[in-house]
Amino acid sequence: MLSHKQTPSFADSQECDTYAWFSQRAWVEIDLGALSYNVQQLIQFLSPRTQLMAVVKADAYGHGAVTVAQTVIQSGASWLGVATVPEAIQLREGGIQAPIVILGATHTAEQIQAIAHWKLQPTLCSPKQALVFSDTLESMNYGSPVPVHIKLDTGMSRLGTNWQQAGEFVQLVQRLPHLEIASIYSHLATADSYDTTTMEQQHKRFEDAIAQIKAMGIQPPCLHLANSAAALTDPALHYDIVRVGLAVYGLYPATHLQNAIDLKPVLQLKARVTQVKTIAPGTGVSYGHQFIAPRELRLAVVGIGYADGVPRSLSNKMQALIRGQRMPQIGTITMDQLMLDVSAIPNIQEGEVVTLLGEQGKEQISADDWAEQLNTISWEILCGFKHRLPRVAVM
Ligand SMILES: *Cc1c(COP(=O)(O)O)cnc(C)c1O
Repeated sequence: MLSHKQTPSFADSQECDTYAWFSQRAWVEIDLGALSYNVQQLIQFLSPRTQLMAVVKADAYGHGAVTVAQTVIQSGASWLGVATVPEAIQLREGGIQAPIVILGATHTAEQIQAIAHWKLQPTLCSPKQALVFSDTLESMNYGSPVPVHIKLDTGMSRLGTNWQQAGEFVQLVQRLPHLEIASIYSHLATADSYDTTTMEQQHKRFEDAIAQIKAMGIQPPCLHLANSAAALTDPALHYDIVRVGLAVYGLYPATHLQNAIDLKPVLQLKARVTQVKTIAPGTGVSYGHQFIAPRELRLAVVGIGYADGVPRSLSNKMQALIRGQRMPQIGTITMDQLMLDVSAIPNIQEGEVVTLLGEQGKEQISADDWAEQLNTISWEILCGFKHRLPRVAVM
């Protein structure tokens, strides 16, 4: 197994420890110091009445759910958000006691029993689902009420009851036995766009829903609307809780929000050079010979490929860092390995550390760079690293 504190880094990359690189051809490095820093930056940025929910769904955006949950709670986050019941159970089994909200839909008796057993907090999206919950808890003879989070659709057109029916929906849930309304929330569709028109419309609809609920004589206990982008855009969107995913992991949801607060990327993707060779001009590299050496060049084979989550469509387009310099990737990325042109540096050694995402010296390659190349978003890049990659936590 890996020793967690002695992470190979750029600093010790000149030394090649044969055993270390046999066991670690490639890995994801998680900087818990940066994670804690981001949480603290976010909390400082919020008004004292607003709590932080760290969204740790999808294995904490590929960063490792239990370790991330422990760190964010220790750093001041009050809530955890996941998508599914198994994700929540994984946290409870990992010893996490903080309140966990399931942001996705849950319906079945099995899910409801697990929610009650593990003291999880479900999202209720419709009157029908609320009735199923109440009936199932009744038939289980479940004693204490389950805290539920009411989801309204104000324009995302995903989960939730239409905001125009907010009053009726909340009144129904309030009258059902075994359920206790913990919060009322909605989700924004366009918070990362520079044009705030649609977001403002959703904000107005949310306010309208709150007015309906109050008109029923119900005081909403807790309200939330903002994701990372909204949290960084406008304090009027913060309410009682902000649900922050991406920013916790140190990335900005949009370039125009980069000045809001200082964040540090938490994840780095690293691998080792497994062989170095010189190839003659005209030599083809990798499957399909999609790269032909235009001159004699020095080639490094690196022990990471698309089965680890390096997208094959980055072939011949990406770069990686060795000794603080950018090296072009050449030829098709294969399942377990890829090649770099390392001619620019003499004497690259087998076992040296290559940074595919992250920082070396003054150079940096971020998930945003990959996302731009691939016409996607950094969220998808972070979630894409596969289980074959060990995760190494550093402070
Ligand atoms: C994933 C998710 C979030 C977090 O979104 P980020 O843009 O990563 O901050 C917040 N709320 C809900 C309902 C989500 O599903």
